[in-house]
Amino acid sequence: MDSEIELLRAMIKALPDPVFVITETGHYLEIAGGKDPAYYHDGGDLKGLSLHDVLPEDKADWFLEQIRETLEQNRLQTVQYALSQNDVKGLEQAPGPDGNIHFEGRLQPLPITLRGERAVVWAARNISSQRELEMKLQQLSETDPLTGIFNRRKFLEQLDRCFRKFKRYNRPTALIIFDIDHFKRINDSFGHSTGDKVLCRLTKDCAQQLRQVDSLYRIGGEEFAVLLPETNAENACQQAERLRQVSEQLRVEVRQSPVKISISVGVSEFTDADTSIEDLMKRADARLYEAKGNGRNRVVGD
Ligand code: GH3
Ligand code: MG
Ligand code: MG
Repeated sequence: MDSEIELLRAMIKALPDPVFVITETGHYLEIAGGKDPAYYHDGGDLKGLSLHDVLPEDKADWFLEQIRETLEQNRLQTVQYALSQNDVKGLEQAPGPDGNIHFEGRLQPLPITLRGERAVVWAARNISSQRELEMKLQQLSETDPLTGIFNRRKFLEQLDRCFRKFKRYNRPTALIIFDIDHFKRINDSFGHSTGDKVLCRLTKDCAQQLRQVDSLYRIGGEEFAVLLPETNAENACQQAERLRQVSEQLRVEVRQSPVKISISVGVSEFTDADTSIEDLMKRADARLYEAKGNGRNRVVGD
């Protein structure tokens, strides 16, 4: 029997992740596990203290809310949160990871009361590396690798968000679509890598022209879009004209002479009659092809 208890004690001590027993008023009654400083700061000394003793008020309140919710639901809850060493009083000297640690917390109601209080078992796991990977994947999934700007997938997502905002609050949103004129000739005359350089330079120069709230996307090979929240088509046309001028001034040096380009631009905005983002995209596209048809290197708007 003794050895069984010894085993249980050793097992609890050796739990790879920290486990806390916290009462509904926020007192740490027991703390075990999480002893590896590569993952955790040892929180063993928090025993006997309360959430509000050791955490900033807003965080302590949030922890208490999760505990109450778990007790109310009477079942396992999973939460995510970030804490750094500096957030927790008493851990200042403890060895452990620097900066913010992202945790997944799993809370289970304890089936007994302790000192007349209900309590939960709060198991915390350091998920920082998974989270970093998730963020990297998220970034890769929405970025164009050549130019580093947002891609078509992100564009459609953001356009959809703007459309819902327009339908709900009637906030105007304008769309600029532009396409490099005779880009195939640049590739054919100067090579694909010069073409790539042009795409990168154009991206950079256009991005510099935009307001912080406007966003630039590469939505096709040599086709780009700008989403302009809180902007009508008339104002967007002025912005489009600045982009056209920027493209005209762009020079990429190759052996003999600098490569010059121009763009054709279509501009439109959401209207009450639109039933989907395709309506706006079709309109901006039609304006762009009008610009191509009328001699290229120009802006056509609604
Ligand atoms: P238009 O004025 O009618 O738009 O003519 P265009 O030559 O620009 O249009 P077209 O659609 O015929 O050709 C587009 C070219 O863009 C063909 C394609 O090889 C090139 N392109 C697409 N993506 C890339 C890229 O990532 N890098 C390079 N260098 N070229 C690309
Ligand atoms: Mg083109
Ligand atoms: Mg094109």
